Amino acid sequence: MPQTTSEQLHKILIGAKLRCPNCEQGRMFSGLFQMNPTCLVCGVRFERSSGESLGGMMVNLVVAELLTIVGFFASYFALGSPADMTPLIIFWLVFDILFVLGFYRPARGMWVAITYLTSGLRKDEDSAA
Ligand SMILES: [Zn+2]
Repeated sequence: MPQTTSEQLHKILIGAKLRCPNCEQGRMFSGLFQMNPTCLVCGVRFERSSGESLGGMMVNLVVAELLTIVGFFASYFALGSPADMTPLIIFWLVFDILFVLGFYRPARGMWVAITYLTSGLRKDEDSAA
C-alpha cells in the first residue's frame, strides 16, 4: 500500500491512465464506457457494489462544472463583458457536455485508484487462485 503522497498521486495517475492501481498492468475498460468488473491480470474487483461508480461520476461532474464556471467568467471578462452572452453560454455548454463525456473514463479510473488507496481493492472471496 502506498504511504507517501507521491506514491499515492502515482496510483491516482495510474487510475487516470485506466490501468489497475493494484498491479498497474491490467486495463480497466474493455469498451468506450464499459468497465471490466475485475482486473484481467491480478484479479482484483474494481467496483464491489454498483453504487461505487457514483464517486467517479461525482469527480467528473465537479471538475467539469468548476472548469465551465471559471472558464465562462474568465472569457466573459477577457472579452470586455459583452452585452450578448449567448455565444459564450453556447460555447461553455458545449464544452461542459464534451468534457463530461471525454473525462468519464479517467474520472472513473481515478475513483477506482482512490478506492484502492482508502479501502483497498481485493479479489472476490469465491474466486480461484
Ligand atoms: Zn490488476
